[in-house]
Amino acid sequence: MEYRILLYYHYTSIAEPAEFAKEHLAFCKSLQLKGRILVASEGINGTVSGTVEQTNAYMEAMKADPLFQGIVFKIDESETHAFKKMHVRPRAELVNLSLEDDINPRELTGRYVEPAEFYEQMQQDDTIVIDARNTYEYDVGHFEGAIRPDIESFRELPEWIRENRDMLEGKRILTYCTGGIRCEKFSGWLVREGFEDVGQLHGGIVTYGKDPVAKGQLWKGQCYVFDERLVVPINQVDPSIVGKDHFTGEPCERYINCANPECNKQILCSEENEHKHMGGCTPACSEHPRNMYVAKHGLNAEEIAARMEIILAEAVH
Ligand SMILES: [Zn+2]
Repeated sequence: MEYRILLYYHYTSIAEPAEFAKEHLAFCKSLQLKGRILVASEGINGTVSGTVEQTNAYMEAMKADPLFQGIVFKIDESETHAFKKMHVRPRAELVNLSLEDDINPRELTGRYVEPAEFYEQMQQDDTIVIDARNTYEYDVGHFEGAIRPDIESFRELPEWIRENRDMLEGKRILTYCTGGIRCEKFSGWLVREGFEDVGQLHGGIVTYGKDPVAKGQLWKGQCYVFDERLVVPINQVDPSIVGKDHFTGEPCERYINCANPECNKQILCSEENEHKHMGGCTPACSEHPRNMYVAKHGLNAEEIAARMEIILAEAVH
């Protein structure tokens, strides 16, 4: 276990995000880190990988910077890097809630709920647990009994809450996401909407999975992460698989992106079904003229037609 993966965020004021991103990229490269970091005027959010020495040097430098006082790093051991390159990108926002008035989590956010407390509270009758992530993240793992808002992206969440207000009124609301950054804003927004008892899982799912008391209990499946690992285990007590193959519904935790570059949808799919469907998530994506699976495997027109015949025959049922 030579390598480490750091997951972190910090809400702070960065005066010149584009300039900061440029300098930070040079700094990360000098340490030979790899990863993806977003920088906005409201703060920083990143995942980076490197050796123990490299990641230690990074954490020390960040903690010493007055801009990042109180920054928390979630650390995973790893045998390799979790990225191929190092990117630092300036963004307008760290988290896109598309709000009329944005939330500043340093001024308004939900109560922090530590993992052990979260474990207790989510089992109580008057509590509603809301998953603040995307559908494709929920599908491979989530808390037992958690509500998955029927939305395609995080920015649709406010509208969904307003439409389902009756269900939430008068309840204790607990929110959770991967590392906690999305809940900082989402829980703050819930408080501003008038919900009185709003808590957020402090440190997110990844911290919950490491907690010595919670031990990841009541988590079903795995947790989707935004690096080459794609999923990480959470439940130390009774791990299970909830992911289902996009085509057959069989247990599956393998993600692929649809081979149609105009679709690029992330689906769970076995290797066998990926080949069978030429990487497409629908028949239309399978036979798309720019299908990347077809290009990669050098299939000719005859071979494509043969596979399409099988795909379409099955799609009828
Ligand atoms: Zn597709």
